Amino acid sequence: MYDVVLHPGRDKAVRRRHPWVLSGSVAREPGATPAGELARVTSAEGEVLGYGDYSPRSQLRVRLVAFGKDAPAADWLDERLAASAERRATDPLLEGTDALRLANAEGDGLPGLVLDRYAGVVVVRASTAAMAARRAEAVRFAATLPGVTSVVARDDATAARREGFEPSSELLAGAPPPARVEIREHGRVYQVDVARGQKTGFYLDQRDARSLVERLARGRRVLDLFAYTGGFAAAAARGGAPSVTLVDASEAALALARAHVERNRGGACEARFVVGDAFEAARRLRERFDLLVVDPPPLARRSADVQRASRAYKDVFLHALRAAAPGAFVLVFRCSHHVSSDLLRKIAFGASLDAQRPVQVLATLGAPSDHPVALDHPEGEYLSGLLLRA
Ligand code: SAH
Repeated sequence: MYDVVLHPGRDKAVRRRHPWVLSGSVAREPGATPAGELARVTSAEGEVLGYGDYSPRSQLRVRLVAFGKDAPAADWLDERLAASAERRATDPLLEGTDALRLANAEGDGLPGLVLDRYAGVVVVRASTAAMAARRAEAVRFAATLPGVTSVVARDDATAARREGFEPSSELLAGAPPPARVEIREHGRVYQVDVARGQKTGFYLDQRDARSLVERLARGRRVLDLFAYTGGFAAAAARGGAPSVTLVDASEAALALARAHVERNRGGACEARFVVGDAFEAARRLRERFDLLVVDPPPLARRSADVQRASRAYKDVFLHALRAAAPGAFVLVFRCSHHVSSDLLRKIAFGASLDAQRPVQVLATLGAPSDHPVALDHPEGEYLSGLLLRA
């Protein structure tokens, strides 16, 4: 067992069960060991505070998986996966969909590991060397779930480079999944490309917001900025929107979006697809819309990016507000924990001042309960949004 010893006075976060030990807190460490070994974390005085995955090259030197003096039991991963799946199975808020996140990294006590289920297909996503090394265990677990026919890997390639492991996107168990996995979410039908789509193929975290958009859409002309495969636009089409305009930089994503709008529309719906830069497209909008969704990518991946990101958010929110007809609903989102929900509100306020339009906040939005956030780990709350009325 490797030891990671903290500097004097740098043990507070661990004592409060925060799962990350940052490099700056570490006084002594094994150093040259391969990433992914379990390490014992001790205070400067030698008290054992917990155990976690050691990552010599990462700012997050240790991701704790157990707190206190006892080492985690040999089957801790399996137990935690089973508990995570059981919580979903007994959560009434998650009824009505066959696609959901079964394990949400730190939110489920599983730093570095995400399992997403799309109907019969489970996608395993590792973002640490330690979790990549435990992949077989996760696969054994996933393969036993009722109705699962395939388990595939889809590791976070950026994290893999940083951590120094080989990212996998192989078939891990069962039959090869279809090129498009069909999922059903509250009556909406989507196709998910688990091999090539973004993240694990679909933005499961926007499920509740999609349902909201469906409810708001009747009779409204809809703009879906940063549409990806048109999750929002297709929900709006199902809800009775007479027109939807989608903008995304990815042509492949919009090709799938076209199929989604067609498949889900409740009645006649005129659909327009714009491949290109959504910041630019927003600036050039001439028509008016009654329901606008602005869901940009994580514009701040580091805290140093926050100012620049705030300006970019404000810019695109401003142009969305200018294109909003009187009484329009406008949904704005941020998906990086570096931009807090408070900051999102301030940015929206700035945009409303610049647009010279008073704007009401009708609701705050966030990820559904298959994306739990551990209270010990506020950084896990990366997604939030506002339902505004212009
Ligand atoms: N709203 C989508 C998720 C959006 S994720 C959903 O619910 O499924 C962010 C999207 O923004 C991605 O599809 C990405 O291709 C796109 N994107 C990133 N930068 C962009 C840019 N500058 N202009 C247009 N689209 C962009």
